[in-house]
Amino acid sequence: MSIVAGTSEFAVIRPDKDRFLAEENPFEAMMSRFDYAAQRLNLDPGLYQVLRHPEKQIITSVPVKKDNGEVEVFTGIRVIHNSSRGPAKGGIRFDMNVTLDEVKALAAWMTWKCAVVNIPFGGAKGGVICDPSQLSMSELERLTRRYTSSIIEVLGPDSDVPAPDINTNERVMAWVMDTYSMHKRHTVTAVVTGKPVEMGGSLGRREATGRGCMLVTRQALARLGMPLQGARVAVQGFGNVGSVTADLLAKEGATIVAVCDKVGGVYDPKGLDVADMLAYVKEHKFLTGYPKGDAITNAELLTVDCDVLVPAATENVINSKNAGQIRAKIICEGANGPTTANADKILEDKGIYVIPDILANAGGVTVSYFEWVQDRGGYFWEEDVVNQRLERIMVRSFDEVAAMADRHKLNLRIGAYMLAIERVAAVHQLRGMYA
Ligand code: NAD
Repeated sequence: MSIVAGTSEFAVIRPDKDRFLAEENPFEAMMSRFDYAAQRLNLDPGLYQVLRHPEKQIITSVPVKKDNGEVEVFTGIRVIHNSSRGPAKGGIRFDMNVTLDEVKALAAWMTWKCAVVNIPFGGAKGGVICDPSQLSMSELERLTRRYTSSIIEVLGPDSDVPAPDINTNERVMAWVMDTYSMHKRHTVTAVVTGKPVEMGGSLGRREATGRGCMLVTRQALARLGMPLQGARVAVQGFGNVGSVTADLLAKEGATIVAVCDKVGGVYDPKGLDVADMLAYVKEHKFLTGYPKGDAITNAELLTVDCDVLVPAATENVINSKNAGQIRAKIICEGANGPTTANADKILEDKGIYVIPDILANAGGVTVSYFEWVQDRGGYFWEEDVVNQRLERIMVRSFDEVAAMADRHKLNLRIGAYMLAIERVAAVHQLRGMYA
């Protein structure tokens, strides 16, 4: 049965759309692209229903004894969107902005992302509503351990494998792994990825997302007949993803003309020195005051004259208000959900080539998959092996998404969703419905 927008049939499969109308709602951002791709695929309505509903949503209270002896109760969330292709995979974020809607959207994005790069994982996401900057290290450890134990029944190398996300890191993953292992009475390294290398992490994981962004940008430039040598690149966000992308693109010969972080940024059309900026940030925390180049704001960075724009910070930064002013020819979405669905149309009308998040930043989960494989095999790979295998997967995935987009005369984002939905749907159809 076909799914056609505007018909009553469509209304039936999307009964609660009005609840999610805000442009900045990440669930809306995900669902509107999913709906369109599902419609183009003539996805079976029953399967549509299955894929739009997360398999499991856990909301849990996380009581933590503070250093001053008082107890504070936080709210923790874990959503497993889909596990048909393998264990669910997705990060844990600690942030005041965590909501169930956001976690649901991020979990579904993980399902599509893992399917785009064709690794045997489903999608999940988790979070705790908290401000980690207000917690001491020991409070953060107790919060992590209590949250882990409260969702422990879903965790496991064969069922749900977390990773770092906003405000969580290798340190937090080590606590998750230790808590899980204490409950299981033996060491289980494969229960999380993004761990320290000393305890089962993978070489190349820290750089993997930025390396993936560099690789797909290289593919996109080649496809558009633009040279990488001298390509002018602007990067929003100078954390893990942004700084590594900038560094690797510069090493490939691109000119990094602008970079910014949460506080502000710098611009120099002749090119910025990434290593020098990294050294500055290490000392001063933020780019503000960096002496070489002109100071620019976050908003200005998005609209500077450049060939490639890499939003690698946070969600909804490219929206209906600023999409019309963007001058880049290519956007490589290092962040998750940096572009709202409303902005998609504006960018497309301007002829901007967007490499969507579920492809562009999939290098991270790809090397997480390598980490899980290495942990389970107990055999660890050299860094160049990790990087070569990552490159093969990113290049192949870019080509497969581009081929799907070309075949249907659609943009890469919808091409990526279609490829992902097709792969997840195929597994559902083969497995059938357990009743
Ligand atoms: P990070 O915390 O290391 O860095 C974030 C950077 O963005 C910092 O420089 C911060 O100052 C800056 N920033 C925050 N808000 C900003 C704003 N409003 N404007 C400009 N800059 C801002 O985080 P990260 O790991 O680099 O993740 C960045 C994005 O990439 C997130 O959306 C994350 O979900 C996504 N992502 C990360 C990975 C990974 O492996 N780290 C993988 C896939 C996707």
